[in-house]
Amino acid sequence: MDGGTMKLEQLGEFALIDLIKQDTINKAESVVIGIGDDAAVLKPTPGSLQLVTTDMLVEKVHFDLSTSSAWQLGYKAIGVNLSDIAAMGGVPNHVVISIAVPKHLPVDFVVSLYDGMKEICREFGVNIVGGDTVSSPHGLVINVTVLGEVEPDKLQRRSGASAGELIVVTGTLGDSSCGLDLLMLGEWQNYKFASSLVTKHLMPRPQVLQGPQIATLGSTSMNDISDGLASEVNEIAHASSVGMRIYSHQIPLSPELQATAPMFGKTAVEYGLYGGEDYQLVFTITPDQFKVLAQVDIAARLTVVGEVTDQSLGVQLVTEDGCTSPLEAKGYNHFR
Ligand code: ADP
Ligand code: MG
Repeated sequence: MDGGTMKLEQLGEFALIDLIKQDTINKAESVVIGIGDDAAVLKPTPGSLQLVTTDMLVEKVHFDLSTSSAWQLGYKAIGVNLSDIAAMGGVPNHVVISIAVPKHLPVDFVVSLYDGMKEICREFGVNIVGGDTVSSPHGLVINVTVLGEVEPDKLQRRSGASAGELIVVTGTLGDSSCGLDLLMLGEWQNYKFASSLVTKHLMPRPQVLQGPQIATLGSTSMNDISDGLASEVNEIAHASSVGMRIYSHQIPLSPELQATAPMFGKTAVEYGLYGGEDYQLVFTITPDQFKVLAQVDIAARLTVVGEVTDQSLGVQLVTEDGCTSPLEAKGYNHFR
């Protein structure tokens, strides 16, 4: 049979797992048994804390196969989970992947999905050690669980921020969300700056190396930015019992976003505050420690966007002309 057109129902579950099994180990020293037995067997580093995170992606809720390739979807499904480990200050080691797939899907689709997953796992030295494969009567569902490790003194909780510290973000914000608006608009190829924004939505690069580096250099709390900066700083403020002041004109915005945002009747700052899925990091750090961090090359742009204040002040947005207003967590919420 021709692999290009073969359907999953013709190949079967076990032959599919045999295909998936290739090239899944990138950090051999930490795994005894990967795919192929009843359970994976792993070797945790003595003295480290174990990190576990999971995310489920549902077709038509989290992704659309008319705008994302299987490969990009695989890359992103793993990436968003690696981002959560990085935001704890940790290093990802292993992933477990469960998929519910319509049986009429071509085998090539799943192979390509796994090629995207394997690419990002190779990039960051992560093993694929197991999963489950079932058929779905409706759309595609992908569940990824990542296991990681962190040294106890580097663990980054949301509750570690104190008044007087700086609020710092990596990269630029809002690009992914504007990229999504371009995808929904269709024919985005016609627009000059669209491709970099769309790529940031379809294949965000998690700050896997930067998370633990920043933690080592003294950050006091950290989140990855999955639901927008406004939402993430509110979470840190709440968990840490502090206030936060964000300066809108300090939010790092790409030239591409600034050129494109007006097309959608929004400002680039609005994208930067409320747009989700950038998978950059936001963290707090003392001004002295930030001076140290700023001297180190961590392969990420770092921008101070505000400061931690007393809880009584709440979470505020300050505009360039000095106007202050409450900054609400207006991110994406599944049940609203
Ligand atoms: P069991 O019936 O014992 O649960 P399975 O037949 O479901 O075993 O799986 C066989 C092996 O393949 C296991 O190691 C499992 O973790 C792995 N596996 C199954 N599906 C996937 C998948 N989609 N991705 C990665 N590994 C998988
Ligand atoms: Mg099973």
